[in-house]
Amino acid sequence: MTKRNRPWGYQDVNEAAEPNWQLHPDTQAIRGALARTGFGETSEALFLNSGFTYDSAEQAEASFKDETEHFLYSRFANPTVAQFENRLAILEGAEACFATASGMAAMFASVACLVKSGDRVVAYAAMFSSCYVVLTEILPKWGVNTVLVEENTPEAWAKALSEPTTAVFIESPSNPLMEITDIRMVSDLAHKVGATVIVDNVMASPVLQKPLELGADVVMYSTTKHIDGQGRVLGGAILGSQKYITESVIPFTRHTGPSMSAFNAWVMLKSLETMSMRVERMSNTATAIAEHFENHAAINRVAYPFLKSHVGYELAKQQMKGGGSTVAIDFKGDKAAVFRFMNALQVIDISNNLGDSKSLMTHPASTTHRRLSAEIQAEMGITPTTVRLSVGLEHPDDLIKDIETALKAI
Ligand SMILES: *Cc1c(COP(=O)(O)O)cnc(C)c1O
Repeated sequence: MTKRNRPWGYQDVNEAAEPNWQLHPDTQAIRGALARTGFGETSEALFLNSGFTYDSAEQAEASFKDETEHFLYSRFANPTVAQFENRLAILEGAEACFATASGMAAMFASVACLVKSGDRVVAYAAMFSSCYVVLTEILPKWGVNTVLVEENTPEAWAKALSEPTTAVFIESPSNPLMEITDIRMVSDLAHKVGATVIVDNVMASPVLQKPLELGADVVMYSTTKHIDGQGRVLGGAILGSQKYITESVIPFTRHTGPSMSAFNAWVMLKSLETMSMRVERMSNTATAIAEHFENHAAINRVAYPFLKSHVGYELAKQQMKGGGSTVAIDFKGDKAAVFRFMNALQVIDISNNLGDSKSLMTHPASTTHRRLSAEIQAEMGITPTTVRLSVGLEHPDDLIKDIETALKAI
């Protein structure tokens, strides 16, 4: 493993000396793409610098011509960010990754780098509200035609994907109701009409679902969520083939500048080390909570993909290794009753983030999905009595007790 300790040196991941067996992903999360400087630091170094120097004008010229490997400027690439990108790519099973300043920067760039005026984009209607705004308001201003699929059935997808299409965007599970889209079915249909399939895999995280193995072309993350997972920094990532990243994403992001900060990349590089433990624990606790409250008298419906009552249950079991950390709960009664319940919580915080080690609850209709009309909210299954619970790392007994106690306030 000597190459890892070479005097300066971030070398190509593939070149890094590794044991002669295939490492388990949990080991890759800690050691994948590890590159050390000559100081032999144990933890990954933080390169908090915007620029880089050259030994000579000739070296600068050669670097800009791509004739020699040298970092040029942190908007293009940075050693700490590169290490985060490479490690995440290994965990995702993707050829390449580009890290961005936020999940929305990743979402926007992943689609915008592909489309031009007149192009057609197909998306499933239930999605994070900012993604909805990008697809139905921002891109259409530039002549992109977005078609929304409203019924998650093979017939509706076949109809939407019966003509040439540039990109397909799906969020599965969807935020907040955890609807499941058949990634393989959609990818097969999309590829027949020439579309690139982009999956927003935020709700599942790289631990629970691998869209590329299910036939998708591109995966995007808000790394703010489970990847940081501790409520500290914003970030995003786009993963796909080397060709897509180098020929489509980078020429777009290099000049539009949504790059991830080196500090955030460093925080998230360390977060990757504990991601699988965290996500598995959150997902197990979320399953326990969903099962515990499913038949409660004050509750109409608990939407969680690993509950047999969920429409996407069979598909979720095929596509995902766990149900995820998000549970949507629809209460009986009215908005005032739901607010009384939320205000009575003593452990779970009221907050619109998700994937945090702290359990958080939000009322989507008045917060995250507020910008969408009542009809669109209804199409997404969001009602005035729906709450979204993001299950954190607290002990399940305390979370169940907190919800049970607050339910008495309804
Ligand atoms: C949070 C989120 C995003 C946006 O990510 P940011 O990091 O907040 O920009 C996109 N998609 C989904 C599903 C999300 O939950």
